[in-house]
Amino acid sequence: SPVILWFRQDLRLSDQAALAAAVHEGPVIPVYVLDDSAPRQWKMGGASRWWLHHSLKSLDEKLRSKGSRLILRRGECALELARLAQETGARRVHALRHYEPWWRNAEKAVGRELDLCLHDGGLLLPPGAVRTGSGGPYRIYTPFYRALMDQMPPAAPTPSPSRIATVARWPDGDALEDWHLLPKNPDWAVAFARDWTPGEEGARANVAAFLDEVGDYPVARDLPSREGTSRLSPHLHFGEISPAQVWNRIGKAPADATIFLKELIWRDYAHTQIWTMPAYGSENARAAFDAMPWRDLREAKTDFKAWTSGRTGYPIVDAGMRQLWATGWMHNRVRMIAASFLIKHLLIDWRHGARWFWDTLVDASYANNSVNWQWVAGSGVDANIFFRIMAPLTQSEKFDAADYIRKWVPELAHLNDHHIHDPEIHGVRPADYPSKCIGHREGRERALAAYRHGKP
Ligand code: FAD
Repeated sequence: SPVILWFRQDLRLSDQAALAAAVHEGPVIPVYVLDDSAPRQWKMGGASRWWLHHSLKSLDEKLRSKGSRLILRRGECALELARLAQETGARRVHALRHYEPWWRNAEKAVGRELDLCLHDGGLLLPPGAVRTGSGGPYRIYTPFYRALMDQMPPAAPTPSPSRIATVARWPDGDALEDWHLLPKNPDWAVAFARDWTPGEEGARANVAAFLDEVGDYPVARDLPSREGTSRLSPHLHFGEISPAQVWNRIGKAPADATIFLKELIWRDYAHTQIWTMPAYGSENARAAFDAMPWRDLREAKTDFKAWTSGRTGYPIVDAGMRQLWATGWMHNRVRMIAASFLIKHLLIDWRHGARWFWDTLVDASYANNSVNWQWVAGSGVDANIFFRIMAPLTQSEKFDAADYIRKWVPELAHLNDHHIHDPEIHGVRPADYPSKCIGHREGRERALAAYRHGKP
């Protein structure tokens, strides 16, 4: 009888353990189910939907080149898969395992209806494979990293099957266009296609391009003006490439890739955290932070708007927020600066910032986004200390962000390297660029006072 291959954030054919298992068992029915209700407030954001549209299209083309195709269904996963099984006579479902709380619930629900076989492959190692001496999961990154490294390299990736046996009659499915995943009126994603090629080929191309760059990564990764990072995050998030494939290619580059692999392991670490604390995206990991007297968003509305639209008067923050809006991605160093600015200078709860990122990032990941926001806020299990407040202007100079600012804040493009980080203080702020929404010292002192008051 046929078997169902349930795709989620694993939109690839190579190093895909669920596909590899399915092809051995009979004709395969590949399916993607769009469920907007189970993730509730974590329903996929706008930028992710743009990516998903293109990635599903690319996956369908790849499947068709092997004589198969992708069936699209919309609704609750367990219900839709049970329906599909009934229509086709399939009983077994193969899928890769995922760790977001809504996927874990969906896996339980599917398992009650059908014979669900879950496989690993979304992470270097499944959460739980790396444990402390006393058997628990690691909460702190560095010991986690060391313990994971003891089990590296990951298993060699497997190639995609040369043929996929198909059913005699395909079940019905939706047309991708009818899902309306792409923005219209206005189409804010016009520039996305210039930067990104969703799908397995695009992921491979980014790996190939990065092979020449990895030697410079330890320094270049902190310089927003350079393209010194791999830009693999959305591809990894949608599973168009597995971390084992990335390790296998980049880990074997002639240049030393240690620092890069260490960053890649943050992804495994973040997924381990949401696996042990499923509410990481909505609750402070350190409950003492519940007492922080954040400003009410109604009162801070103008500041929040200035932040989201890249008009805070801090060029590095504004450049980052505009890059995010235009391309669906932001440089990591600038993500840290922009997040810190929202949380500390504007005293706005990290959850509001995380939600904005969730909607606007093409790599929006429940694990990586939540863990990094809580890292910056100081509320995470492994986190920066709240009262170490990043000075955006110093950061901007130190990491040489002048060209980056010129690119994303054209009002400032004519300023020299010395003035561009803080045009206001040098008396060269153009009339069409806003003045600072709060002074650095004022913001810093307000944040420290709030911290002392809340005593988290
Ligand atoms: P590279 O530097 O080339 O790193 C390679 C891969 O390692 C990345 O693609 C990513 O999968 C992983 N990685 C690198 N840094 C981290 C990190 N700090 N935490 C977890 N994984 C990491 N990353 C996301 O993938 N999704 C998010 O939603 C997300 N939200 C973030 C929010 C904030 C406030 C901050 C400070 C960081 C966030 N990050 C997130 C982490 C990081 O900024 C991005 O992974 C990185 O910028 C992606 O670019 P790259 O692929 O070129 O990274």
